[in-house]
Amino acid sequence: MLRITDLTFRYTRKSPVVLDNISLSLKDGEIGVLLGKNGSGKTTLFKTVLGFEKPEAGQIDFNGKDLLKMNRRERAEQIAYVPQDIQFGDLTVFDTVLLGRLPYFGLKASKEDEEIALKTLKEMGLEELAMRNTAELSGGERQKVAIARALAQEPKLLVFDEPTGNLDIANEQLILKEILRGTKEKGIGVLTSLHDLNEALSIGDVFFFIKDGKIRYYGDSSIVTELVIKDTFDADVSIIEYKGKKLIVNGGL
Ligand code: ADP
Repeated sequence: MLRITDLTFRYTRKSPVVLDNISLSLKDGEIGVLLGKNGSGKTTLFKTVLGFEKPEAGQIDFNGKDLLKMNRRERAEQIAYVPQDIQFGDLTVFDTVLLGRLPYFGLKASKEDEEIALKTLKEMGLEELAMRNTAELSGGERQKVAIARALAQEPKLLVFDEPTGNLDIANEQLILKEILRGTKEKGIGVLTSLHDLNEALSIGDVFFFIKDGKIRYYGDSSIVTELVIKDTFDADVSIIEYKGKKLIVNGGL
């Protein structure tokens, strides 16, 4: 269980508050989706959870342990991150995924690390790309490799920042499927931002609507309403039912 309590953050002492007394919790194996306008503080929240930024106040516990007191390595055994702008070194796909094991090995990967990397590649259907350089991959393939690297880390929580941001619709579907498959089976929790509200509804268990650095609404899909979307995004939408599920249609045009 991830539990964030009264988290407040600003980038410098004189700059405005970006996270304003945020509290949220996410149970093991749950997919939590953070929804909010650009600049509302989603990435900043991820960065504090990952220890890249230090909050001014508040607590972040993961399974009863204080995440803010963990060192990088201890945290990496618990949480993996797939950022928006994925950076790979000049490495093969296999070596890139093996790097996910870095928190567990010292100077050299063990046989077990290599086996886990290979197993993860196989599970994601990336075997054929194993010896290719990551620089030669398409956007969808890069995203898959980044997810494979994160899964090879065997985290208990995966944090994704806009995992489908620059992908075409086929790759979008593929990546969402991979996220579901790679995490639900293993009981790994997911905290993600998604700009597409229908994608969010299709994979999310809980939703956190963030505005001006505050969580304004949270809960299961029943809280996703036209009013909540209007208040959060200042956008007019209609919600209809399609095949027994909520479907959000752009009502502003
Ligand atoms: P989101 O991910 O929701 O688009 P961000 O967390 O990236 O939002 O940004 C929240 C706010 O913090 C914005 O006003 C943004 O300009 C500001 N911000 C983001 N990164 C920095 C930084 N490194 N230094 C100063 N301000 C930043």
